Amino acid sequence: MKVLLINPPYASQIIRRYVCSYNAPNFLFPPLELMYLSAQARLVAGCEVKLIDCIAERLSPEETLDAVRAFNPDVVLSIMAIEYFDNDVGFLKLLKRDLPAALVGCFGHLPGNYQRETLEATGADFVLAGEPDLSFRRLLEDHMAANDAGQSAVEAEWGVEGATLSAGDKAKTAMPAGGDGVAYFDENGVFVPAEFQRIESLDSLPYADQSAIDHSRYGEPFFGHPYTTFLTSRGCPFSCNYCVRSYGRKYIPASADHVVGEVTTAVNNHDIKYFRFMDDTFTASKRRLLEICAGLEKLEGISWSCLARPNTIDGEIAAALKRAGCTRVYVGIESGSQKVLDYLKRGYKLENVIENIHEVRRSGLEMVGWFIVGSPVEEREDFEQSIRLARDLKLEFVAVSTLVPYPNTELYELEKDNIEFSLLPYKCEFKEQATTEREAEFYRRYYLTPSFIAGKLGHLARHPAETLKASAEFVRYAVASKRDPNRRDLL
Ligand code: SF4
Repeated sequence: MKVLLINPPYASQIIRRYVCSYNAPNFLFPPLELMYLSAQARLVAGCEVKLIDCIAERLSPEETLDAVRAFNPDVVLSIMAIEYFDNDVGFLKLLKRDLPAALVGCFGHLPGNYQRETLEATGADFVLAGEPDLSFRRLLEDHMAANDAGQSAVEAEWGVEGATLSAGDKAKTAMPAGGDGVAYFDENGVFVPAEFQRIESLDSLPYADQSAIDHSRYGEPFFGHPYTTFLTSRGCPFSCNYCVRSYGRKYIPASADHVVGEVTTAVNNHDIKYFRFMDDTFTASKRRLLEICAGLEKLEGISWSCLARPNTIDGEIAAALKRAGCTRVYVGIESGSQKVLDYLKRGYKLENVIENIHEVRRSGLEMVGWFIVGSPVEEREDFEQSIRLARDLKLEFVAVSTLVPYPNTELYELEKDNIEFSLLPYKCEFKEQATTEREAEFYRRYYLTPSFIAGKLGHLARHPAETLKASAEFVRYAVASKRDPNRRDLL
């Protein structure tokens, strides 16, 4: 049975993730969710698995369909992005029309929360809700068994060994088993919804299938190749009201041994030198983090980055990260205004975490500060406090985005009357958000200053091509008068 995993085509370079997705003109992450699914499919005996990343391979829709036809899959699973939902729905429709006998499905935040609507809009056969790993494997096993049973029936009926199922017969045996995280319309046209799935033990999952991608195509600014990413925990225990969260509130981490094993395998088998931990908050558990760092210390020549919250990092952690090869940490600072942080339910007082952030800065780790602008309570002085904080911390880089009230978040419920939402065409934004230009203003006032530019000459010497490319993007965006219609990240 041939199984195809697909990151659909788009007109520009984007990063599609289960959580929010974004334009990324100067870097690209591997399709990590699909790589974990590829590993699951490889556990099903008799599956031939292929992953097509149309973004990395820069495939147009037509070129993608040619590649899909050439592979001729029995099962296709596509990731779908929130911000590019219209595009992804349109492409899945084309795919299903092209492959009537194949079982075609998708997963992502919107499909999981709007299962019926997604099935109706795309004509797809199934939607996976929540963490797709185990549901997908069960679906493949059921499909394989159903096809085998159908095949035996055809052979028995015709008395000919090897008599094959027609496309129509295959389609009839192709309905998923139902339940277990799979939503679909049954043979009577009745909608069968799916429960949102969580996986209780990440240690029981296989490592991401690193053989499914070409590592030279991916990277992050100022990192080299071969590059990859890992996900070592799922869910996030914190309470930020705007957050889609990857999979839910319950925090489920893999053990330190499992994490070190996955990284070591990738380093040994694929010569990985650069990587990033994509966990929402890699530093959420200090004990686990210190164990992971102790394990990674044994690997030489690696350079990696991770994500942290201001209240989950300090000087001791920074020192351990550095010893383990971490060179950059992305910290969700979000705002320099306590009023805005409280509105966003960040759950800490700036005065209690600021010294910790300074300790990390003194450790010599590179720090990228993420900021959110444009929340309904943000006034000019709150915005100014954020810029002042970024400058005080002398962050290597800042990445700024405008607050989006994503569907199925606490913020969405809170601001319901102040939000314009439609699923198709996808639109989800505050009715009144007079501050969308603040992203560009933040970048302009942070980056386009003589002191910042002088400080970055070292980067230019070490990474001339990447620095010039990234600088051009920053300048282009910082001087743009209007925000990109889709969310855009420069780091
Ligand atoms: S720390 Fe907040 S924003 Fe980050 S993943 Fe957790 S809940 Fe979401």
